[in-house]
Amino acid sequence: MNKSKKTAFRDNILLGELTWPEAEQRFAEMDVALLPVGAIEQHGPHLPLDTDAFDADYLARAVAEKCSSPKPLVLPLIPYGVSYHHDEFSGTISVNNETLSRFVYEIGMSAAKNGIKKLLIINGHGGNGPTLNFAAQMINRDAHIFVGVDSGETSDVDIDGMCETPNDVHAGEIETSTSLVLRPHLVKMEKAHKSVPDFSIRYLNFSSKRGISWYAYTHRLSTTGVMGDPTKADAAKGEKMWEIMIKHLVNLVEDLKGMTLEEIHQLRY
Ligand SMILES: [Zn+2]
Repeated sequence: MNKSKKTAFRDNILLGELTWPEAEQRFAEMDVALLPVGAIEQHGPHLPLDTDAFDADYLARAVAEKCSSPKPLVLPLIPYGVSYHHDEFSGTISVNNETLSRFVYEIGMSAAKNGIKKLLIINGHGGNGPTLNFAAQMINRDAHIFVGVDSGETSDVDIDGMCETPNDVHAGEIETSTSLVLRPHLVKMEKAHKSVPDFSIRYLNFSSKRGISWYAYTHRLSTTGVMGDPTKADAAKGEKMWEIMIKHLVNLVEDLKGMTLEEIHQLRY
């Protein structure tokens, strides 16, 4: 069997599939790496537990594949995340904030030793945000490389505009639509029910541009674990959402690829 056919098709984007001499060559031509981070946690009665992990990995690979050559490297997925707030629902496997930030920090420091100068963390789970930002700061402090975290910021404004449901933050219209595209066989639409949180204080509203960051156990907000309206989901909408997410991250990576660290910090338009 000609194994090289598959990796040639993928332009050697997956670090885990390379040999060390191939990796050495890739690090010499490419200093951008993507690190997908997910979660294993309840996603309502209708979506699989690994939704965030699968989606982050898919997004990182799709972005790398869509980039021009030489393409960025995709580091192996970190599937577990900070999900204590879903603990009351079976199947949620969570790690501590300290553990995840330390783990990401050490991966980032090691990637920097290999020659990575720009590390983009592709975060599939909002609950990981503060922890990954903390890790990114520590990697920047100690390795002096560029580290960015995208938890959806590059496309949220567009995706929210396409979504009919306010506060659609978990296993709702958005995540169910995107899952219908990638793994329709794992989406149990007959079990999907609407559960939209409504907050008494407008500054606590998840969709509000004036909303503050705050943290809550999901079971206090929703009995099914859903926060949003999965009944509004459809694959066509999901397809568009993926397209938008991929497009913006490709733009970001292409910009990063063409710049030295000096230029990222100094270039003015
Ligand atoms: Zn999710």
